[in-house]
Amino acid sequence: MIIQPKIRGFICLTAHPEGCRANVKSQIDYVRAHGPIPNDKKRVLVIGASTGFGLASRIASAFGSGAATIGVMFEKKSENGRTATSGWYNTAAVENFAHAEGIYAKSINGDAYSAEIRKQTLDLIEKDLQQIDMVIYSIASPRRTDPQSGITYKSVLKPIQNEFNSLTIDVHTGKISDVTIEPANEQEVEDTVKVMGGEDWDLWITDLLARNLLAPSALTLAYSYIGPKITEAMYRKGTIGKAKDHLENSAATITAKLLPIGGKAYVSVNKALVTQSSSAIPVIPLYITLLYKTMKDAGLHEGCIEQIDRMFRERIFTNAAVICDDVGRIRVDDWELKAEIQSAVASNWTRISTETLPMIGDLGGYRSEFHRLFGFGIDGVDYGADLEIDVKIPSIEE
Ligand code: NAD
Repeated sequence: MIIQPKIRGFICLTAHPEGCRANVKSQIDYVRAHGPIPNDKKRVLVIGASTGFGLASRIASAFGSGAATIGVMFEKKSENGRTATSGWYNTAAVENFAHAEGIYAKSINGDAYSAEIRKQTLDLIEKDLQQIDMVIYSIASPRRTDPQSGITYKSVLKPIQNEFNSLTIDVHTGKISDVTIEPANEQEVEDTVKVMGGEDWDLWITDLLARNLLAPSALTLAYSYIGPKITEAMYRKGTIGKAKDHLENSAATITAKLLPIGGKAYVSVNKALVTQSSSAIPVIPLYITLLYKTMKDAGLHEGCIEQIDRMFRERIFTNAAVICDDVGRIRVDDWELKAEIQSAVASNWTRISTETLPMIGDLGGYRSEFHRLFGFGIDGVDYGADLEIDVKIPSIEE
């Protein structure tokens, strides 16, 4: 099949297996070009391992320090003439590249929020690796079924208390328009915390501990975001921000549980980046187009792999203690939040229009990164080639 991008709103319905493979390869090459990551965490579990920050974390672990990785994700294989999702193809590529070098990599595809997938993963750890040295929790999801109550919660991306008036962009046409988002009600806030807060992260660590599957001094890490004033009402002070508050507070609860084994839980606050999840958040894509332009001009732009590689080398696996801010969070959003970057973005924000955006924003960069998420627009890939879309993930039996 010759595969073309089929974009609908903020998703792409197709993915390109060779493009995804090339994407994974370029992330591996990036990590390798910077030399080995000195790191004793050789058995790593990544929950949400197939795209975005989780994929980069798996790649940095496996190819930066030769770690055995188990990746959990929720992706679709190719069926009825439809391509698989990009996360499926990425995972196939990660496993194939790892296995070619004799590095252990297995994956579990299913709902990580369910007790069943958690058990399946823990059984695999027990059988193959015995214990885990680092757990990276990188799920982004619009819904979660509570494994105990069976209730399904949906997250919403809304402000709290007051309606939010701002500008937004259709990234595919470049058209800027006004947007008003009504505030969430209390139930919506609670539901969003249920989905994107730290409850599920805590359940994973509690179960791993109960079965003695965490090695002495095990670390666990989850990802958060803060961002600037422009997006604050929508993001950090909105429903998703409440969930991130909960996630960040969960690090302390989880650390207390890890004390007997000398382990610790961290949250890393990362930069705003184009991923499948962030493209669905109102106002964030417009902010990202301005941010990318400013950061690229300043030579400070990073993607997921650059962020995770820097976080591993310069924040966690330093020769001394893990480097945190004054409330214990790892920060790799430091370049995004530099005063000069934010003042340039804020000043450009006051000048945004459909006409000015090509000058003040990096819409081309946004679009090409969005395409890349699905394996399109990557140098060296033959997009005219007739390809097999049914790609096997070696460790997954179908
Ligand atoms: P993403 O959409 O690229 O990746 C999400 C991952 O979660 C995928 O591997 C997907 O398969 C997996 N997943 C989703 N639902 C699942 C389920 N029920 N069971 C198993 N796996 C499931 O997202 P991302 O942007 O990399 O986000 C990862 C984390 O990083 C999130 O906590 C997000 O808030 C945080 N973060 C993102 C940004 C950003 O700008 N993108 C910035 C800072 C922090």
